[in-house]
Amino acid sequence: MRIETDALIVGAGPCGLFQVFELGLLGIQSHIVDALPYVGGQCAELYPDKPIYDIPAIPYCTAMELVENLQEQIKPFDPEFHLDQQVSTLDIVDGGFNVATTKGTEFFARSLIVAGGVGSFQPQLLRISGVDSLVDKQVFYRVTNPDQFIDHDIVILGGGDSAFDWAIELVDRVKSLKLIHRSDRFRAAPASVAKMRELESAERLEFYIGNVTECAQDENGKLSSIQVIHPDKSETTFELDSLLVFFGLSPKLGPIADWGLTLIKNQIETDTEKFQSNIPGIYAIGDIAVYPGKKKLILSGFHEAALAAFAIKQQLNPDEKVFLQYTTTSPIMHERLRVQTPE
Ligand code: FAD
Repeated sequence: MRIETDALIVGAGPCGLFQVFELGLLGIQSHIVDALPYVGGQCAELYPDKPIYDIPAIPYCTAMELVENLQEQIKPFDPEFHLDQQVSTLDIVDGGFNVATTKGTEFFARSLIVAGGVGSFQPQLLRISGVDSLVDKQVFYRVTNPDQFIDHDIVILGGGDSAFDWAIELVDRVKSLKLIHRSDRFRAAPASVAKMRELESAERLEFYIGNVTECAQDENGKLSSIQVIHPDKSETTFELDSLLVFFGLSPKLGPIADWGLTLIKNQIETDTEKFQSNIPGIYAIGDIAVYPGKKKLILSGFHEAALAAFAIKQQLNPDEKVFLQYTTTSPIMHERLRVQTPE
């Protein structure tokens, strides 16, 4: 079923989330899509626990606190989230855009706001011959159904939060679990590392330092074992049913590059009045937008979101004048924010 909407936001980073707020204040409900399974963009993916000091009126917060506050702020506007799916195709049609995602969700959107940051985060791949044909069969870059590994011999590769979180989560379901990382220096949270060491001491999982060099397949093409080389150059063969690879995610502009938008070095060129692209009805805000003097800062994206919202309100209601109203005093905004108008 195709979802019809006045506003479709591509990207649920901080700027996409704030776009929901600015549209909501003007009475426009939005749908928001992100390739990641969670909101927050770079803040959530790259530096959740690091501090940010340059958000106006918030002297200090962590990146994740900023994302949580933005989620709280947009609650009154009931945005519909479509996560873990990349917006892949865009067709310009009469009165709007037909848009489809990699999960098959289809939209007809009267306006489209691209808040795609530096692109959608894609998993870093295990570059070993024969692996590609096994992806989502026995080699996984993402876990969607943890129960599929019940009673499996599994090997997890990686030293970051995803590798450790899944090792801890899956250890009780699987037959055996081996965690392999190129060194014993980890990017995962200290608490997760401590938990992994506890499980290792209890012989619930095994940890090895090494790199995968080969995958062996049986006569039916099924992955049967991997070859790992250790720092002392010794090698081990590990038999397994499933291989989970968590080497981190890196952003790629992806399909946005093919939509006919004017790009300057992987950013969408916009004006500075509406933050509209060369295609009327398609706006760009946040890190993905470029214009003279652009600075890739969250506060710049917030300003762009505000002006794009006014432009979209005007686009959707061409015969009405769009008035600026203050959230302090406007009863209609209080209604939309679901707060009481003071006496
Ligand atoms: P992003 O946060 O990049 O989010 C874009 C989202 O769009 C992503 O989640 C991506 O998955 C999604 N997406 C892209 N393409 C598609 C598609 N086709 N389909 C579906 N989803 C898609 N800025 C500051 O102002 N102050 C700071 O102190 C600061 N510190 C930083 C520290 C670090 C380590 C880093 C890396 C950045 C920092 N920044 C800081 C920059 C700031 O994080 C970015 O400016 C901000 O995240 C941009 O927000 P955004 O919403 O435009 O894009």
